[in-house]
Amino acid sequence: MSLGLDVVDQLLVDGVRARQLRPLARTITLIESLRPDHRARAQRVIEALLPDTGGAMRVGISGVPGVGKSTFIEALGLYLIGQGLRVAVLAVDPSSSVTGGSILGDKTRMELLSQRTEAFIRPSPSAGSLGGVADKTRETLLVCEAAGFDVVIVETVGVGQSETAVAGMTDIFCLLQLPNAGDDLQAIKKGIMELADLIVINKADIDARQAMMAKSQIKSALGMLRHTSPNWMPPVLTLSALKQDGIESFWAEIVRFRDTMRASGEFGTKRRDQAQAWMWELIDSGLRQRFRDNPRVKTDLPGLQKAVAEGHTTPAAAAHRLIGYLSQD
Ligand code: GDP
Repeated sequence: MSLGLDVVDQLLVDGVRARQLRPLARTITLIESLRPDHRARAQRVIEALLPDTGGAMRVGISGVPGVGKSTFIEALGLYLIGQGLRVAVLAVDPSSSVTGGSILGDKTRMELLSQRTEAFIRPSPSAGSLGGVADKTRETLLVCEAAGFDVVIVETVGVGQSETAVAGMTDIFCLLQLPNAGDDLQAIKKGIMELADLIVINKADIDARQAMMAKSQIKSALGMLRHTSPNWMPPVLTLSALKQDGIESFWAEIVRFRDTMRASGEFGTKRRDQAQAWMWELIDSGLRQRFRDNPRVKTDLPGLQKAVAEGHTTPAAAAHRLIGYLSQD
């Protein structure tokens, strides 16, 4: 239902549905805006587009800087276009808001792909916390689905918690690894390997033997880890993004994963769980914001914090009093 939309926003909705890239980009700009009136308009537009969402395969791709993510995504994107599909590439890069510079997502990457009309590449939103950046990317993903993209790739870099955020918004989460001993250990240590539905050892063209060794190491490590599904053992593939060798087998595994998850019912369950978890994240962050904006909290918080630190009051009593202010709004 698009009731309550003004003319300008209705044009955005119609344009996105008609698969036009300019209304799509303008809608994403609204989503990324920090202005409350823009946020409200973005919510109305997304709500109107909701019935048109859900149709894409949502693919998460992660890996440390230099592993070959953009080379790989470009090769994959061009391959998918060759199969008659339309591809959107989004990014979650919390580093861009911390340092003002972005590890991912500047427009000069994926030059060939960005020239194709069947592709849409959007860099990471640059303002806000990881949670804020991830929310905007989730909303952008929905809008891209409404614009008829068959595959939405969400890229993230192997720093911090962004992998968990991306695994939480995609159907399949793929981890790119270097064929070096030690790269897999880092991923295991950080718990990223346990999020992976599919592991790719890139740059296999440099030293095929080393790539095979890395593959068997990762395979045996996987045997000891928890997996994302009881019905799926994460495959380990070797490929070369640069030589575009192995892209077809990669996509075949994605399709096999989707079919397996659909057959077991997990595909739909995962999306429903993700939507609910997203709602709860928004409730948590909304409540936190309301709490911090509350005038009495603002006045009393510094004193109470000090009292807790000095042992004059208990953390529980202080928290109880501060939270109580919310119900007196
Ligand atoms: P990102 O930082 O993960 O996006 O990595 P890039 O895609 O920018 O790649 C980093 C470097 O690795 C570039 O110089 C690429 O040309 C190179 N590279 C990427 N994939 C391969 C590959 O499969 N084989 C080789 N030999 N080099 C690659």
